[in-house]
Amino acid sequence: MSLQALLEERIAREGSIGVDDYMTLALSHPEFGYYMTRDPFGVRGDFTTAPEISQIFGELCGAWIAQQWMAQQEPSPCVLLELGPGRGTLMKDMLRATARIEGFHSSLYVRLLEISPVLQALQRQTLRDTHPRLEWITALEELPSLPLYAVANEFFDALPIRQFVQEQARRVVQENGALRLVPDVQPQDVRETCEVGIAIITRLSEHMKRHGGALLAIDYGYEGESRGDTLQAVREHRYVSPLETPGEADVTAHVAFSALMDAATQTGASAYGPVPQGQFLRRLGAELRASALCYNATPQQRAAILSGLERLMAPHAMGRLFKAIAITPSGLPVPDGFG
Ligand code: SAH
Repeated sequence: MSLQALLEERIAREGSIGVDDYMTLALSHPEFGYYMTRDPFGVRGDFTTAPEISQIFGELCGAWIAQQWMAQQEPSPCVLLELGPGRGTLMKDMLRATARIEGFHSSLYVRLLEISPVLQALQRQTLRDTHPRLEWITALEELPSLPLYAVANEFFDALPIRQFVQEQARRVVQENGALRLVPDVQPQDVRETCEVGIAIITRLSEHMKRHGGALLAIDYGYEGESRGDTLQAVREHRYVSPLETPGEADVTAHVAFSALMDAATQTGASAYGPVPQGQFLRRLGAELRASALCYNATPQQRAAILSGLERLMAPHAMGRLFKAIAITPSGLPVPDGFG
């Protein structure tokens, strides 16, 4: 059995499946889902994420989180949560960068929301001996009722979207042995929604409103209304058709930041951004941090530090398409990087 065969069987039985069901199966089917079966990251994998490019990314995210904790009178105990931690690199860099902030680590329960057993095992390896109270959760219901400091990098793009053409939901069908989307229309005639992402933001916002905390989410996506088809797939660092090799490619959609932010403000929380990643990292002092790292580096290391920074920040690389948003309880100062 393969995911292709499983999809064909289900589509034969039901006539069609929604784009959301397709994404869910392609990414997280327990046996064949893309994330459930592999480590997808890095040069030998399918794609490379910001924390895998440069340690500066995680260090600045850590500094941002610790700054929020300090701005809210250093609550203790509290939770540090990462949604979709990949290889665990971002959390590792965040914890290292904040280790010397008085009272911070000793206040934390570290929680990791991860569905993939393969990635959970990798995270366990990366994060062993980094913090004494570090545990995995598979649902947000498992979070304790404590102030919540949360980060998510390239998490929301992996959540299932629905697509509409006018008011009609777009479906995946099978024709002549290939999967196809119907109705078949121009990309600009498609509208997308991500109910799962909105539900997660709503839940986290309500939690932070009651208990305090802050969320930093970074992803590729757009501001304003949904304006077209953004369903995409990446395999071996190339774009492929999202329907072509289900379970073997990273199938994602661009994040509708405005929809997530509206969901947050509807709960009474405050939402900030989106700020392009390049600008956000510059405001947090990425260049200064790079210079400090270069100071004790060999010429070779120095070149790697600077090219990593360039990839994260340059508009033609990740600096513009990727954006940051923040959510906090209302009545607090504008978070670092968003003012
Ligand atoms: N943040 C990491 C990885 C991004 S890839 C990085 O920047 O490198 C997306 C991550 O989210 C993977 O770890 C994947 O297994 C996880 N994930 C995807 N859908 C999820 C879901 N519904 N619940 C929990 N984790 C999920």
